[in-house]
Amino acid sequence: MPAHPRYPHLFSPLNLGFTQLKNRVLMGSMHTGLEDIPDGFDRMAAYFAERARGGVGMIITGGIMPNFEAGGGAKLSTPEEAAQHRIVTYAVHAADNEVKIVMQILHTGPLAYTDRCVAPSAIRSRIGAFVPNELDEDGIEKQIADFANCAAMAKLAGYDGVEIIGSAGYLISTFLVEKTNLRNDMWGGSFENRMRFPLEVVRRVRAAVGPAFILIFRIAAMDMLQGGMSWEEVVTLAQALEAEGVNIISTHFTWHEAQVPTIATMVPRAAFASVTGRLRKMVGVPVITSNRINMPDVAEAVLAAGDADLVSMARPMLADADLVVKAFEGREDEINTCIACNQACLDHTFSGKLTSCLVNPRACRETELNYRPTTAPQRLAVVGAGPAGLAYAVTAAGRGHHVTLFDAASEIGGQFNLAKRIPGKEEFYETLRYYGRMIEKLGIDLRLGTRANVASLQAGGFDRVIVATGIAPRVPDVAGIDHPKAVSYVDVITGKAAVGKRVAIMGAGGIGFDVAELITHAGTSAAMDINVFAREWGIDFANHPRGGVTGIDPEVARADREVVLLQRKTSAPGRGLGKTTGWTHKLTLQRRGVQMVGGVDYLKIDDQGLHTLVGGEPRLFDVDTVIICAGQEPLRDLYDALVAAGVAADLVGGAHEAMELDAKRAIMQASELAAAA
Ligand code: FAD
Ligand code: NAP
Ligand code: SF4
Repeated sequence: MPAHPRYPHLFSPLNLGFTQLKNRVLMGSMHTGLEDIPDGFDRMAAYFAERARGGVGMIITGGIMPNFEAGGGAKLSTPEEAAQHRIVTYAVHAADNEVKIVMQILHTGPLAYTDRCVAPSAIRSRIGAFVPNELDEDGIEKQIADFANCAAMAKLAGYDGVEIIGSAGYLISTFLVEKTNLRNDMWGGSFENRMRFPLEVVRRVRAAVGPAFILIFRIAAMDMLQGGMSWEEVVTLAQALEAEGVNIISTHFTWHEAQVPTIATMVPRAAFASVTGRLRKMVGVPVITSNRINMPDVAEAVLAAGDADLVSMARPMLADADLVVKAFEGREDEINTCIACNQACLDHTFSGKLTSCLVNPRACRETELNYRPTTAPQRLAVVGAGPAGLAYAVTAAGRGHHVTLFDAASEIGGQFNLAKRIPGKEEFYETLRYYGRMIEKLGIDLRLGTRANVASLQAGGFDRVIVATGIAPRVPDVAGIDHPKAVSYVDVITGKAAVGKRVAIMGAGGIGFDVAELITHAGTSAAMDINVFAREWGIDFANHPRGGVTGIDPEVARADREVVLLQRKTSAPGRGLGKTTGWTHKLTLQRRGVQMVGGVDYLKIDDQGLHTLVGGEPRLFDVDTVIICAGQEPLRDLYDALVAAGVAADLVGGAHEAMELDAKRAIMQASELAAAA
C-alpha cells in the first residue's frame, strides 16, 4: 500500500513477526468501570467495537486483576470468567479482524483497596488505604503463578495479547524501586535482585501463552519519584525484558503518588515522547509512547522524529471513537479533541463513577445514548451557542433536524471563550474548532450577533425553541459592590478591567481559581512550552536523575502580585476542584504565594479595600482590586417569556440550572435532550 500522504508514519503497518498491527495508533488502557457492572461486558463490547471501527490498530483494555489480592476490580483467573470476556474479543474482531485487542493485567499491589493487599515490603503508599502485607517466598510464587494463569485465561478468552503493567506504584514497580523494596533476599537489594520479580513474571507469562501472543510490558520510563528509578536501571530493565521475550515495551510516566502532573491539560502535548525516544535507541523491540498526544499531527510528529514505534492515545479515543479514520480521510478538523480536563474520565474513575467524556457523553454509554436519524424532522431554534447550545444544535442537526442557532455574541462558545484564555486551558480552542466545523458541515443556520427574543422567534416559524442562554455572573449583596475597586471576572479575563498589585478574589470556586491563575501568571504558559513546564515541576529531561525529578523549587514561580483567594465556607478552599487535577491548581497558586482564606464574611468594599470578618474577627484586606467570582445565576427570562407566549420551549445548560454547572453537565444534558428530539 502506498504511504499515506499526510501521515506516512502513522499509517504504516508494524510487523511483529507472528502478527502485524495495521497502523501505529493504539487505544491505551483505561479503567472505565464497565468491567465491574452487571451488563458491563455487553457495554464494553459495544464501546471497544466502536473504537475498532474507528480505525485504531490495537486496543488495550482496562486493567484486569489476576487474583483477589490484586485489587477489588474485575478478575480473570477461571475459564468461566474467560467466557465473559469472549463477548468483548468477538465484538472487536467482528468489527475489524485486523484490529488487535490486548488485555491489561493489573496487580495494584499496595494500592489495592483490601487489607489483603501485598507488596515486597510492608510500606504504605502515600495514597494507599492499607499497609500492605509483606510477601514471603510462597506469596511471591503465588503472585507470579497468578499472572501466568491470568495470561493463559486471556488467551482462552480470545485476546491477541496481554499488557503487564509494571509502573504507576502498582505491585511490580514496588519491587523495582529501592524505597518500596527493603528486602535483603533474592528479590531485593541490588537492581538485579529488584528486577527479578518482573522478569520472572514475564518469563512465566510467556511460557503460559506461547510465542505467538503479543506480550507488552509497561515500564516506568520516568517515575517522577525522588529516589525513584535511575535512567541506567530503566535501560537495564528494558533490555532484560526484551531478552525474556517481551514483544513491545510501553513507556509510562509517573507513579500515581508522584506530585507532578503528567496528563492534565497544563501538560504540553507529547511532553514525554523524548524520554521514550531515548529508550527506543537502547532496545530492539518496538516502543510505545503516550501522554497528551491528542491529535494525529502530534502523533505523526512523534513517530517521524523517531521517538516511538507506536503512539498510545487513550482519552482521545473516549473523546472521538473515529479519530483515526477521520485522520486517514483528511477530516482532522472534524475530530472532537480530548481537552485533557479529566472531568468525566479520571475524575469519575477515582470517584467510583462510570467513565465518560466531557466532550463526548456517549463514551461508555454506546448501548444507551444513540443519535439515530429522525423520522420526523423539525424546525428547531437553539438560542445560545455556548457548550449546551452547540451540543444540542450539532446533535439535533446530525439526526436530520433543521437547526437555526442564535448567539448575541460575535463568536460561538459562550463561556468557553473565557475559559480558553486561562493559561493551561488552551485546549478549549479545539472544542470550539470542532463545533465550528460541525456547524458548517451539518448546514446549521448560524446567526451570530443576534439576540433572539420572543417576537423574532415567533416570526421564525420554529416548531420548538431550545433555550441555552447560559448564566449571568452573581452580584453579591455586599455594601460597596459598585465601588471602582470591585470588578467582574468577565472584565478581568477579557482584559477590560485593570487589575492592581494587591488583589482579593471573592469566591474560590473553579472561576476564582482560574482567575487567580490568570493574574499570577507571567510569560509563556507551561502547556505551550516544555521548558517552562519542566522548570515549574522540577523535571530534568536532559540528565534524568533518579525518577527524572529534581524537586520543586518553591521560588521558581513566585508572582509579582499579592493575591488572596476568599470564600465564606470554612472548608479548605479548592475542595470542589477536579479530583485528579485540583491539587495541581492549588499547588501552583500556593507556590506563587497566593493565600487562601475560608470562613470569610464580606462586610463592605471601600477606598481602604475589602472589610471582612474572618472566623468572626474583623479583618481588612488592603487591596487595589476585588475580583468578584461569586458564582452564577441562570439566565432564563427568555424561556419564561416564551412559555408565557405559548411557544414550545426547552431549557438546557446554565439557563436550566446554574448551580454547580460545568461544561460536562451542559453538554451531556443537551446531547441527551437532542437524542430524544
Ligand atoms: P454559556 O456558555 O454561558 O453560553 C450561553 C450563550 O448564550 C452565550 O454565548 C450568550 O451570548 C448566549 N445568549 C444569551 N442570551 C441570548 C439571547 N437572548 N440571544 C442569543 N444568544 C444569547 N467548565 C468546565 O466544565 N470545565 C472547565 O474547566 C471550565 N472552565 C471555565 C473557566 C472559566 C473562566 C469560565 C468562565 C467557565 C468555565 N467553565 C468550565 C464553565 C463552562 O464554561 C460553563 O459551564 C458552560 O459554558 C455553560 O454552558 P452554557 O451553554 O449553558 O452557557
Ligand atoms: P462555583 O464553583 O460554584 O464557585 C462560586 C464561589 O463563589 C464559591 O467559592 C462560593 O463560595 C462563592 N459564593 C457563592 N455565592 C456567593 C455570594 N452570594 N457571595 C459571595 N461569594 C459567593 O462557581 P464558579 O467559580 O462561578 O464557576 C462556575 C462553574 O464553572 C462551576 O460550576 C465550575 O464547576 C465551572 N468551572 C469549572 C472549572 C474546572 O476547572 N473544572 C473551572 C472554572 C469553572 P462560598 O459560598 O463559600 O463563599
Ligand atoms: Fe479528555 Fe476531558 Fe474527555 Fe477525559 S473527559 S477524555 S480528559 S476531554
